[in-house]
Amino acid sequence: MTGIYFHIPFCARKCPYCDFYSLPYQRETAEAYVGAILRNIAAYEITDDVDSIYFGGGTPSLLTIRQIEDILNACQKHMHLHKPEITLEYNPTGQRDTYLRQLRAIGVNRLSVGTQSFSDDVLHLLGRTHSAEQGKHAVLAAYAAGFANISCDLMLACPGQTPERLSHTLTELMQLPITHVSAYLLQIEDGTPLSRDAHLLSLCPDEDGAADCYLQTVRALQKAGLEQYEVSSFAREGFESRHNLKYWTCEPYLGIGAGAHSCFGGKRFSVPKDAKAFLMAQRQPVEILSDHPCDTEERLMLSLRLRRGVDVQALSPAAKKKLPCLIQAGYLEQNGKRIALTAEGFLLSNAIIAELMM
Ligand code: SF4
Repeated sequence: MTGIYFHIPFCARKCPYCDFYSLPYQRETAEAYVGAILRNIAAYEITDDVDSIYFGGGTPSLLTIRQIEDILNACQKHMHLHKPEITLEYNPTGQRDTYLRQLRAIGVNRLSVGTQSFSDDVLHLLGRTHSAEQGKHAVLAAYAAGFANISCDLMLACPGQTPERLSHTLTELMQLPITHVSAYLLQIEDGTPLSRDAHLLSLCPDEDGAADCYLQTVRALQKAGLEQYEVSSFAREGFESRHNLKYWTCEPYLGIGAGAHSCFGGKRFSVPKDAKAFLMAQRQPVEILSDHPCDTEERLMLSLRLRRGVDVQALSPAAKKKLPCLIQAGYLEQNGKRIALTAEGFLLSNAIIAELMM
Protein backbone atom coordinates (compact mmCIF):
# COMPACT_ATOMS: atom_id res chain seq x y z
CA MET A 1 0.00 0.00 0.00
CA THR A 2 1.25 3.49 -0.85
CA GLY A 3 0.68 6.80 0.92
CA ILE A 4 0.35 10.15 -0.83
CA TYR A 5 1.56 13.34 0.84
CA PHE A 6 0.68 16.82 -0.45
CA HIS A 7 2.82 19.66 0.88
CA ILE A 8 0.83 22.91 1.03
CA PRO A 9 3.46 25.53 1.92
CA PHE A 10 1.23 28.55 2.61
CA CYS A 11 0.80 30.15 6.03
CA ALA A 12 -1.15 33.23 7.09
CA ARG A 13 1.84 34.29 9.19
CA LYS A 14 5.22 32.75 10.02
CA CYS A 15 5.48 31.39 13.58
CA PRO A 16 8.76 32.50 15.22
CA TYR A 17 9.94 28.96 16.07
CA CYS A 18 9.15 27.36 12.72
CA ASP A 19 11.75 26.34 10.15
CA PHE A 20 9.42 24.37 7.87
CA TYR A 21 9.26 25.52 4.30
CA SER A 22 6.37 27.98 4.10
CA LEU A 23 5.35 31.16 2.25
CA PRO A 24 2.83 33.93 2.88
CA TYR A 25 -0.58 32.90 1.54
CA GLN A 26 -1.67 34.51 -1.75
CA ARG A 27 -4.88 33.45 -3.45
CA GLU A 28 -3.54 33.40 -7.03
CA THR A 29 -0.36 31.54 -6.07
CA ALA A 30 -2.38 28.95 -4.14
CA GLU A 31 -4.62 28.42 -7.17
CA ALA A 32 -1.64 27.94 -9.49
CA TYR A 33 -0.03 25.63 -6.92
CA VAL A 34 -3.13 23.42 -6.81
CA GLY A 35 -3.03 23.32 -10.63
CA ALA A 36 0.53 21.99 -10.40
CA ILE A 37 -0.54 19.36 -7.86
CA LEU A 38 -3.26 18.20 -10.27
CA ARG A 39 -0.74 17.93 -13.14
CA ASN A 40 1.57 15.85 -10.97
CA ILE A 41 -1.20 13.50 -9.83
CA ALA A 42 -1.93 12.78 -13.47
CA ALA A 43 1.77 12.38 -14.35
CA TYR A 44 2.81 9.77 -11.79
CA GLU A 45 1.92 6.18 -12.48
CA ILE A 46 0.84 4.71 -9.18
CA THR A 47 0.05 1.07 -9.66
CA ASP A 48 -0.04 0.16 -5.95
CA ASP A 49 -3.21 0.62 -3.90
CA VAL A 50 -3.31 3.93 -2.01
CA ASP A 51 -4.57 3.68 1.58
CA SER A 52 -3.50 7.08 2.89
CA ILE A 53 -3.66 10.67 1.65
CA TYR A 54 -2.16 13.41 3.81
CA PHE A 55 -2.37 17.20 3.39
CA GLY A 56 0.52 18.71 5.40
CA GLY A 57 2.19 22.07 5.50
CA GLY A 58 2.38 24.93 5.96
CA THR A 59 -1.33 25.39 6.54
CA PRO A 60 -3.40 23.16 4.24
CA SER A 61 -6.61 24.52 5.80
CA LEU A 62 -5.93 27.76 3.88
CA LEU A 63 -7.00 25.91 0.72
CA THR A 64 -10.61 26.29 -0.29
CA ILE A 65 -12.99 23.33 -0.16
CA ARG A 66 -13.15 23.36 -3.97
CA GLN A 67 -9.34 23.13 -4.22
CA ILE A 68 -9.16 20.20 -1.79
CA GLU A 69 -12.05 18.50 -3.56
CA ASP A 70 -10.31 18.93 -6.94
CA ILE A 71 -7.21 17.23 -5.52
CA LEU A 72 -9.24 14.36 -4.04
CA ASN A 73 -11.18 13.91 -7.30
CA ALA A 74 -7.89 13.71 -9.20
CA CYS A 75 -6.65 11.05 -6.73
CA GLN A 76 -9.89 9.13 -7.31
CA LYS A 77 -9.41 9.34 -11.06
CA HIS A 78 -5.71 8.43 -11.30
CA MET A 79 -5.10 6.10 -8.33
CA HIS A 80 -6.51 2.88 -6.95
CA LEU A 81 -7.84 4.16 -3.64
CA HIS A 82 -8.31 1.51 -0.99
CA LYS A 83 -10.47 2.92 1.83
CA PRO A 84 -7.92 5.70 2.36
CA GLU A 85 -7.30 7.52 5.60
CA ILE A 86 -7.49 11.16 4.41
CA THR A 87 -5.84 13.57 6.85
CA LEU A 88 -5.70 17.35 6.72
CA GLU A 89 -3.66 19.52 9.06
CA TYR A 90 -6.00 22.19 10.38
CA ASN A 91 -5.05 25.50 11.96
CA PRO A 92 -7.64 26.39 14.64
CA THR A 93 -7.77 30.12 13.91
CA GLY A 94 -11.28 31.57 13.64
CA GLN A 95 -14.70 29.94 13.65
CA ARG A 96 -14.92 27.75 10.59
CA ASP A 97 -17.67 25.26 11.42
CA THR A 98 -19.11 25.30 7.89
CA TYR A 99 -15.66 24.69 6.43
CA LEU A 100 -15.22 21.69 8.74
CA ARG A 101 -18.61 20.23 7.73
CA GLN A 102 -17.71 20.67 4.07
CA LEU A 103 -14.30 19.07 4.58
CA ARG A 104 -15.96 16.02 6.06
CA ALA A 105 -18.55 15.96 3.28
CA ILE A 106 -15.88 15.80 0.54
CA GLY A 107 -14.24 12.78 2.19
CA VAL A 108 -11.56 14.09 4.57
CA ASN A 109 -11.87 11.65 7.48
CA ARG A 110 -9.01 12.57 9.82
CA LEU A 111 -8.17 16.03 11.14
CA SER A 112 -4.85 16.96 12.70
CA VAL A 113 -5.47 20.12 14.70
CA GLY A 114 -2.53 22.41 15.49
CA THR A 115 -3.66 23.15 19.05
CA GLN A 116 -0.09 23.17 20.53
CA SER A 117 -1.23 24.22 24.04
CA PHE A 118 -4.36 25.14 25.98
CA SER A 119 -2.63 27.94 27.87
CA ASP A 120 -3.15 31.38 26.32
CA ASP A 121 0.13 32.58 27.86
CA VAL A 122 2.09 29.80 26.16
CA LEU A 123 0.26 30.27 22.84
CA HIS A 124 1.04 33.98 22.95
CA LEU A 125 4.74 33.39 23.68
CA LEU A 126 4.86 30.83 20.85
CA GLY A 127 3.51 33.51 18.51
CA ARG A 128 0.44 31.47 17.60
CA THR A 129 -2.57 33.44 16.38
CA HIS A 130 -5.22 31.24 18.00
CA SER A 131 -6.40 31.11 21.61
CA ALA A 132 -6.90 28.09 23.87
CA GLU A 133 -10.65 28.56 23.44
CA GLN A 134 -10.35 28.51 19.65
CA GLY A 135 -8.27 25.32 19.87
CA LYS A 136 -10.96 23.61 21.91
CA HIS A 137 -13.72 24.96 19.70
CA ALA A 138 -11.98 23.61 16.57
CA VAL A 139 -11.85 20.09 18.00
CA LEU A 140 -15.46 20.17 19.20
CA ALA A 141 -16.69 21.65 15.92
CA ALA A 142 -14.77 18.97 13.97
CA TYR A 143 -16.36 16.28 16.10
CA ALA A 144 -19.81 17.80 15.59
CA ALA A 145 -19.08 17.90 11.84
CA GLY A 146 -18.63 14.12 11.87
CA PHE A 147 -14.88 13.67 12.34
CA ALA A 148 -14.42 10.53 14.45
CA ASN A 149 -10.63 10.57 14.10
CA ILE A 150 -9.09 13.77 15.45
CA SER A 151 -5.46 14.32 16.38
CA CYS A 152 -4.10 17.27 18.37
CA ASP A 153 -0.55 18.62 18.21
CA LEU A 154 1.11 19.54 21.49
CA MET A 155 4.30 21.55 21.79
CA LEU A 156 6.44 20.69 24.81
CA ALA A 157 9.19 22.61 26.58
CA CYS A 158 8.17 25.88 24.97
CA PRO A 159 8.55 29.40 26.38
CA GLY A 160 6.52 29.93 29.53
CA GLN A 161 5.59 26.26 29.93
CA THR A 162 5.52 25.32 33.60
CA PRO A 163 4.45 21.93 35.02
CA GLU A 164 1.20 23.61 36.13
CA ARG A 165 0.42 25.05 32.69
CA LEU A 166 1.27 21.74 31.04
CA SER A 167 -0.94 19.94 33.54
CA HIS A 168 -3.79 22.33 32.69
CA THR A 169 -3.23 21.73 28.97
CA LEU A 170 -3.27 17.95 29.43
CA THR A 171 -6.45 18.12 31.52
CA GLU A 172 -8.19 20.23 28.87
CA LEU A 173 -6.96 17.92 26.12
CA MET A 174 -8.31 14.83 27.87
CA GLN A 175 -11.80 16.31 27.92
CA LEU A 176 -11.88 16.54 24.14
CA PRO A 177 -13.11 13.81 21.77
CA ILE A 178 -9.70 12.98 20.33
CA THR A 179 -8.13 9.73 19.17
CA HIS A 180 -4.50 10.75 18.69
CA VAL A 181 -1.87 13.17 20.00
CA SER A 182 1.44 14.22 18.46
CA ALA A 183 3.60 15.75 21.21
CA TYR A 184 6.86 17.37 20.14
CA LEU A 185 9.64 18.84 22.21
CA LEU A 186 10.29 22.32 20.84
CA GLN A 187 13.53 22.39 18.88
CA ILE A 188 15.32 25.72 18.74
CA GLU A 189 16.31 25.84 15.07
CA ASP A 190 19.13 28.15 13.97
CA GLY A 191 17.99 31.10 11.90
CA THR A 192 14.46 31.28 13.37
CA PRO A 193 13.36 34.47 15.19
CA LEU A 194 13.03 32.40 18.38
CA SER A 195 16.71 31.38 18.24
CA ARG A 196 17.68 35.09 18.36
CA ASP A 197 15.26 36.13 21.11
CA ALA A 198 17.18 35.95 24.38
CA HIS A 199 14.10 36.81 26.46
CA LEU A 200 11.96 34.02 24.95
CA LEU A 201 14.84 31.56 25.21
CA SER A 202 15.22 32.38 28.89
CA LEU A 203 11.57 31.36 29.37
CA CYS A 204 12.12 27.85 27.93
CA PRO A 205 12.59 24.99 30.40
CA ASP A 206 16.20 23.72 30.63
CA GLU A 207 17.14 20.19 29.54
CA ASP A 208 15.92 18.57 32.75
CA GLY A 209 12.73 20.63 32.64
CA ALA A 210 12.16 19.55 29.03
CA ALA A 211 12.61 15.89 30.00
CA ASP A 212 10.09 16.38 32.83
CA CYS A 213 7.58 17.93 30.39
CA TYR A 214 7.94 14.92 28.12
CA LEU A 215 7.57 12.33 30.88
CA GLN A 216 4.65 14.23 32.44
CA THR A 217 2.92 14.13 29.04
CA VAL A 218 3.64 10.44 28.41
CA ARG A 219 2.22 9.49 31.82
CA ALA A 220 -0.91 11.64 31.50
CA LEU A 221 -1.70 10.40 28.00
CA GLN A 222 -1.13 6.74 28.92
CA LYS A 223 -3.40 7.17 31.90
CA ALA A 224 -6.09 8.55 29.63
CA GLY A 225 -5.86 5.52 27.31
CA LEU A 226 -3.69 7.06 24.61
CA GLU A 227 -0.89 4.53 24.15
CA GLN A 228 2.51 5.74 23.06
CA TYR A 229 3.33 3.95 19.80
CA GLU A 230 6.24 6.14 18.65
CA VAL A 231 8.63 8.71 20.12
CA SER A 232 6.11 11.57 19.68
CA SER A 233 2.87 9.76 18.87
CA PHE A 234 0.03 8.51 21.08
CA ALA A 235 -3.23 6.91 20.01
CA ARG A 236 -6.32 5.10 21.15
CA GLU A 237 -6.28 1.53 19.94
CA GLY A 238 -6.76 1.35 16.18
CA PHE A 239 -6.17 5.07 15.63
CA GLU A 240 -2.41 5.10 14.98
CA SER A 241 -1.63 7.41 12.07
CA ARG A 242 -1.61 5.16 9.03
CA HIS A 243 0.36 7.75 7.10
CA ASN A 244 3.10 8.40 9.65
CA LEU A 245 3.53 4.67 10.25
CA LYS A 246 4.67 4.39 6.63
CA TYR A 247 7.72 6.55 7.44
CA TRP A 248 8.77 4.23 10.28
CA THR A 249 7.95 0.91 8.67
CA CYS A 250 9.47 1.78 5.28
CA GLU A 251 6.29 1.51 3.25
CA PRO A 252 6.29 3.56 0.03
CA TYR A 253 4.95 7.11 -0.02
CA LEU A 254 4.91 9.73 -2.73
CA GLY A 255 5.26 13.40 -1.76
CA ILE A 256 3.90 16.04 -4.13
CA GLY A 257 4.66 19.74 -3.63
CA ALA A 258 7.61 22.02 -2.91
CA GLY A 259 9.70 20.58 -0.09
CA ALA A 260 7.95 17.16 -0.09
CA HIS A 261 9.94 13.95 0.43
CA SER A 262 9.25 10.54 -1.12
CA CYS A 263 10.27 6.93 -0.91
CA PHE A 264 8.66 5.73 -4.09
CA GLY A 265 9.50 3.55 -7.07
CA GLY A 266 12.56 2.15 -5.28
CA LYS A 267 14.14 5.60 -4.79
CA ARG A 268 14.19 8.27 -2.15
CA PHE A 269 13.88 11.83 -3.43
CA SER A 270 12.79 15.32 -2.43
CA VAL A 271 11.27 18.26 -4.26
CA PRO A 272 13.28 21.51 -3.90
CA LYS A 273 11.82 24.04 -1.45
CA ASP A 274 10.86 26.38 -4.27
CA ALA A 275 7.13 26.85 -4.84
CA LYS A 276 7.72 28.89 -8.01
CA ALA A 277 9.78 26.11 -9.61
CA PHE A 278 7.12 23.60 -8.56
CA LEU A 279 4.21 25.48 -10.03
CA MET A 280 6.01 26.40 -13.28
CA ALA A 281 7.13 22.83 -14.06
CA GLN A 282 5.00 20.36 -15.99
CA ARG A 283 6.25 17.68 -13.61
CA GLN A 284 7.75 18.45 -10.20
CA PRO A 285 11.57 18.73 -10.17
CA VAL A 286 13.20 16.20 -7.82
CA GLU A 287 16.57 15.70 -6.20
CA ILE A 288 17.46 12.02 -5.82
CA LEU A 289 18.60 11.32 -2.26
CA SER A 290 19.19 7.62 -2.76
CA ASP A 291 18.61 5.24 -5.67
CA HIS A 292 17.44 2.49 -3.36
CA PRO A 293 14.92 2.25 -0.50
CA CYS A 294 16.11 1.92 3.13
CA ASP A 295 18.70 -0.80 3.78
CA THR A 296 18.44 -3.22 6.71
CA GLU A 297 20.28 -0.93 9.13
CA GLU A 298 18.13 2.09 8.27
CA ARG A 299 14.96 0.02 8.68
CA LEU A 300 16.17 -1.11 12.07
CA MET A 301 16.81 2.47 13.16
CA LEU A 302 13.34 3.55 12.06
CA SER A 303 11.68 0.54 13.73
CA LEU A 304 13.37 1.40 17.00
CA ARG A 305 11.37 4.64 17.07
CA LEU A 306 8.27 2.49 17.49
CA ARG A 307 7.01 1.25 20.84
CA ARG A 308 6.74 -2.27 19.45
CA GLY A 309 10.51 -2.16 18.86
CA VAL A 310 12.48 -4.80 16.98
CA ASP A 311 13.27 -8.50 17.13
CA VAL A 312 16.46 -8.96 19.16
CA GLN A 313 17.75 -11.34 16.48
CA ALA A 314 17.81 -8.47 13.98
CA LEU A 315 20.48 -6.67 16.02
CA SER A 316 24.20 -7.10 15.38
CA PRO A 317 26.30 -9.09 17.90
CA ALA A 318 27.89 -5.79 19.03
CA ALA A 319 24.47 -4.23 19.68
CA LYS A 320 23.27 -7.32 21.57
CA LYS A 321 26.22 -6.99 23.97
CA LYS A 322 25.08 -3.46 24.87
CA LEU A 323 21.51 -4.49 25.71
CA PRO A 324 21.92 -5.54 29.38
CA CYS A 325 23.49 -2.21 30.27
CA LEU A 326 20.77 -0.16 28.49
CA ILE A 327 18.02 -2.31 30.06
CA GLN A 328 19.60 -1.90 33.48
CA ALA A 329 19.64 1.90 33.00
CA GLY A 330 15.90 1.84 32.19
CA TYR A 331 16.24 2.97 28.55
CA LEU A 332 15.23 -0.31 26.93
CA GLU A 333 12.93 -3.14 27.87
CA GLN A 334 12.64 -6.66 26.54
CA ASN A 335 9.30 -8.36 25.94
CA GLY A 336 9.92 -11.91 24.79
CA LYS A 337 11.97 -11.70 21.63
CA ARG A 338 11.44 -7.98 21.11
CA ILE A 339 13.43 -5.07 22.41
CA ALA A 340 11.93 -1.58 22.66
CA LEU A 341 12.70 1.86 24.05
CA THR A 342 11.00 2.89 27.30
CA ALA A 343 9.58 6.41 27.80
CA GLU A 344 12.95 7.44 29.30
CA GLY A 345 14.66 5.79 26.32
CA PHE A 346 12.49 7.70 23.84
CA LEU A 347 13.85 10.92 25.35
CA LEU A 348 17.35 9.89 24.27
CA SER A 349 16.24 7.88 21.25
CA ASN A 350 18.73 9.35 18.77
CA ALA A 351 21.70 8.70 21.06
CA ILE A 352 20.56 5.19 22.01
CA ILE A 353 19.80 4.15 18.43
CA ALA A 354 23.18 5.53 17.32
CA GLU A 355 24.86 3.54 20.12
CA LEU A 356 23.16 0.32 19.01
CA MET A 357 24.16 0.89 15.40
CA MET A 358 27.85 1.49 16.16
S1 SF4 B 1 1.47 27.60 10.90
FE1 SF4 B 1 2.78 25.77 11.09
S2 SF4 B 1 3.98 25.67 9.18
FE2 SF4 B 1 3.07 27.73 9.31
S3 SF4 B 1 4.67 28.98 10.23
FE3 SF4 B 1 3.36 28.27 11.93
S4 SF4 B 1 4.30 26.34 12.63
FE4 SF4 B 1 5.21 26.83 10.62
